[in-house]
Amino acid sequence: MTGGPGHEPLDGNPLLHVDPLPGEDGLEASLRPTRLDEFIGQDRVRRQLQLVLTGARRRGQPADHVLLSGAPGLGKTTLAAIVAAEVGAQFRATSGPAIERPGDLAAILTGLEGGDVLFVDEIHRLPRTVEEVLYSAMEDFQLDIVVGKGPGARSIRLDLPRFTLVGATTRTGLISSPLRDRFGFAAHLEHYETDELLAIVRRSAGLLGVDVDHEGASEIASRSRGTPRIANRLLRRVRDYAEVEAGGHIDLTVARAALEVFDVDELGLDRLDRRVLEALVDSFGGGPVGLGTLATAVTEESDTLEDAVEPFLLRCGLLQRTPRGRIATAGAYAHLGRPMPPPASGLPHRTPGAVSLFDDRDEPGGDAG
Ligand code: ADP
Repeated sequence: MTGGPGHEPLDGNPLLHVDPLPGEDGLEASLRPTRLDEFIGQDRVRRQLQLVLTGARRRGQPADHVLLSGAPGLGKTTLAAIVAAEVGAQFRATSGPAIERPGDLAAILTGLEGGDVLFVDEIHRLPRTVEEVLYSAMEDFQLDIVVGKGPGARSIRLDLPRFTLVGATTRTGLISSPLRDRFGFAAHLEHYETDELLAIVRRSAGLLGVDVDHEGASEIASRSRGTPRIANRLLRRVRDYAEVEAGGHIDLTVARAALEVFDVDELGLDRLDRRVLEALVDSFGGGPVGLGTLATAVTEESDTLEDAVEPFLLRCGLLQRTPRGRIATAGAYAHLGRPMPPPASGLPHRTPGAVSLFDDRDEPGGDAG
């Protein structure tokens, strides 16, 4: 499972990337729940959104602007489309980086019809000049734009149809407070529990016509890093394996064999994740070690480690971030099958499962008995 250093490319496993792979959009769209009651998990957000949308529908008004935050692949785009479907409105989608100038925003907003839902993905990446124009559009449904340049420039005010803006961001911290304040409802999506991912895998299997039993679906769910996008992607890869190697049926054995072929371990770690843990444990004695040093050791960019590797290792409790650097936890040693090193104090320290001759403390839960 761990592979010798230097033999494999070090980039992360694209199957476990949370950003959509090129060409995956159509496949993802086919698996998207279209109504709130088909959307699995996120119970609190779902209930709150239900109230917001039902209230708006009863009043016959467009819903308040909605801000959705959370890691990639957790369902922000899906929920935005659901907002439109639930109020019977048209759904228009764009993204922060695609709107480069105030004029781009003006073109989008003046093209809207009353009640439309405008989805702006990665809204934290809107240029500041665009963001400032958006304030009055969100608040008063008016657009103040400057036309012309130099002394001939003049400001004009346009009335806009009432619309609902749904903004999505992976980084709430990067949204300026004036922008955040203009959303009437903000919700944060958390990673999913395994039983919720199991329900998502089963639903997707039904839509794709994949023959998977409970144990097979659970195995896929438990390796999906709490993320529906990854669950759906692993399901498709396991289906490929099952069709080629196992007559199309996915059970526990087939799911395990397939995920091993695709380099996804029991926790959902890929080779790069394991390389980082191995470097930390084997080369730096478990740390603490600085991010830059760790990145150099696995010949990756610090940014890649920080954005694509660390968050999941932290969430799994395999890594800790301290002011002095990154530290491997006991869980990391256990996952890699390495013995824990002696503690820094020099006191005798037992490796997991070893019997100590020096003290009579209880052994940490081993698998004896
Ligand atoms: P985000 O916009 O947060 O990156 P998406 O809305 O694009 O995530 O969701 C990624 C994929 O995961 C979609 O194909 C969608 O079908 C699926 N998905 C996300 N959330 C759910 C959910 N709660 N129930 C079922 N499928 C989901």
